[in-house]
Formats: sequence, structure tokens, C-alpha cells
Amino acid sequence: MTQKTIILAEEINQEINPVTFELIDLAGKLAPSEDPEIVYPTHTDTDRAKQLAEKTGLRVTRLKIQGSRGYNPETYKQAMQTYLEQKRFTYLLAANNTRNRDYIPALAHRLGNSCISQISGIKQSENKICFLSPMFAGKYEALLEPETGSAFLLAQPGSFQANPPLFETVGEVVEQTYAGKPKFIHSQGMEHDQEESEDLKKAQVVVSAGRGINEQDNLELIKRTATLFNKGSMACSRPICDMGWLDYKYQVGETGATVTPEVYMACGISGSMQHISGMSRSQLIVAVNKDPGASIFNHADICIQEDAASFLETFLEVCS
Ligand SMILES: Cc1cc2nc3c(=O)[nH]c(=O)nc-3n(C[C@H](O)[C@H](O)[C@H](O)COP(=O)(O)OP(=O)(O)OC[C@H]3O[C@@H](n4cnc5c(N)ncnc54)[C@H](O)[C@@H]3O)c2cc1C
Repeated sequence: MTQKTIILAEEINQEINPVTFELIDLAGKLAPSEDPEIVYPTHTDTDRAKQLAEKTGLRVTRLKIQGSRGYNPETYKQAMQTYLEQKRFTYLLAANNTRNRDYIPALAHRLGNSCISQISGIKQSENKICFLSPMFAGKYEALLEPETGSAFLLAQPGSFQANPPLFETVGEVVEQTYAGKPKFIHSQGMEHDQEESEDLKKAQVVVSAGRGINEQDNLELIKRTATLFNKGSMACSRPICDMGWLDYKYQVGETGATVTPEVYMACGISGSMQHISGMSRSQLIVAVNKDPGASIFNHADICIQEDAASFLETFLEVCS
């Protein structure tokens, strides 16, 4: 059976991850006249496949990975290989996240296909499609073309439209089981490192610090600005946590929290894709950065070219 595009579904907090809808949007751009198919590999007993078929109207394969106590790159790779070997496809679309980057490039290589990660857009000319992938903290974009007939594409969350498509029918759900045993890696389950901050989850205004805040003491300015708002919370980029200045529960981004507040204020944050993927669905983005070429300005609604600490001091003065 010929299948043009296959989408690897994602879930988050027991819901369909909006990035799955972004992948459907991307599939529509790549092959507007053909419906993609969804594959949902899982080691749990959730009925997310049914939910996906209802919300998308697309055919969903629930690929049950038996006997695994948690995510295991070896079994996921083998299960997906077994599934894909029955298919003819041009693209496999997946989210550019830690798990997929862990096993998808190896899977693509095993099947003799190209793999392009961190895709933030596409460029179509008459007879070819190229994929945009940010380089040098988002200051440049590489234009990449897969060499092989089929390609695995890892799309950066936040780069495409996340609106569920309007289908009137419910898609078909197909069950497939993979029962192979891993040879090299045995998963012993998962441990959750640290909960996200409750304030951050509920915040309507998020004031976030990046490396450009320069001194740990300046975090006080971030905190005071956040407390100006009724439902305000502080947050930060990863280097702030890595330096031990704030707990990881405040980190926003691919390996931290995903936030969708009314206002997100990025202070001294460059705008790496790993950070953007956690806050790009905020309603209004305000960026304060002293570099006029900072990539965050491409994502912001309000761009302020200023020293972050001086700006916050003035802002607090005006507001008090
Ligand atoms: C697998 C993986 C996962 C990751 N996950 C995440 C994640 O979840 N979240 C995350 O944030 N990062 C994550 N990262 C790290 C990410 O790639 C970036 O390194 C990080 O986001 C950069 O943080 P930053 O913008 O604070 O720092 P930088 O990139 O160093 O940027 C600092 C910015 O501050 C500006 N600046 C400097 N001085 C001032 C000043 N005085 N006033 C105003 N602006 C100033 C600079 O112009 C610059 O734009 C991840 C990386 C990897 C490899």
C-alpha cells in the first residue's frame, strides 16, 4: 500500500501533544492532496489512538510495544522498523524532541533513509522541497534537501500550525503489537526528576531570565516583576538552572516546562529553538535583549533592545 506521509504521534500529560497537529499541518504542506497516516507507538495501555482518530479523522496505528516497563530506544527502534518495513512512504514526520532524537536518526540510517532534525520551515520551488533548520543560535538557517527518496523529518515544536484539522469522520484505529525482546538495553522504568512549579503552570504572565541577566542578584528583578501581576511567575532558560541560580522546575523549553501564558517576557534570552519550543504558544511575547540580531526578536511581538537589568529596574520604578 502506498502511503505518502506518516506522522509519529506524541502525547503529553495524558493528552495529545499539540505538536502532533503541527505535524499534520506540515504533512498538508508537503502533500496537500493526500491524507497522512498516524502511528502511535506506546508501551502503556492508554486509548490515545482512539482520541487521535476522533480528533484528526485519520487512520491511526496503535503500535503496542509489549513487555517494556518504560521507553526503551532499542525496542522502539525495532518496533518502528517492523511497522515501517510494511509501508511505502515519502516522509516520516516526528517532533524534534529528546526521545525522538534518541532513536529516530538511527532508525532512518538502518532503513537507508535521510534524517533531518530541527526543521523550522520548508521552502518549495518548482520541483524540489528544502527544509529550514536553524544554526548558530538561530542567527542563520540551513537549507537542507534529503538525498534519499524517503526521509525522516524532525520538526521543531512551535514551527507549524497546531490547530486540529476539521474532519467530519472518525478515523480507523488499527492495532499492531511488537513483542520482540531487547538484546542490549533493559528498561527498569522511569523516575520523575522534579515537578514543574505550580505557579508557572497556572501563570498568566511569565517573566523569564536568560544568561543575559548576567548576575544571580538580578534574578530579584525578575521575581519582583513577576509579582507585579496577579497570576505572575518567574521562569528561566536552561543555563540559569545549569549554573544553579534557579531550580530546574522553573526551566522553560524542550527539556523543561511548556507554557502558554497571556504574556511571556524573555529577558536576556537568545531564542534557541530548545527554548522557543516551550513558550512559542504564548499569546504575547515581549523580548528584551541588547543584541538587535538576537533570534528571539523573530518570535517576539514587542522587541526591546536594552540591557535587561536596566530595563527591569526602570519598569519596576514606573510600576511602583
Ligand atoms: C538537548 C537539549 C535540550 C535543551 N533544552 C533546553 C530547554 O528546555 N530550555 C532552554 O532554555 N534551553 C535548552 N537547551 C539549551 C539551549 O540550546 C540554549 O543553549 C539556551 O536556551 C540558551 O539560553 P540563553 O538564551 O539564556 O543563553 P544564551 O544563548 O547565551 O543567550 C543570552 C542572550 O542574552 C543576551 N544578552 C547578553 N547580555 C545582555 C544584557 N546585558 N541585556 C540583555 N540581553 C543580554 C545576548 O545577546 C544573548 O542573546 C537545550 C539544549 C540541548 C542540547
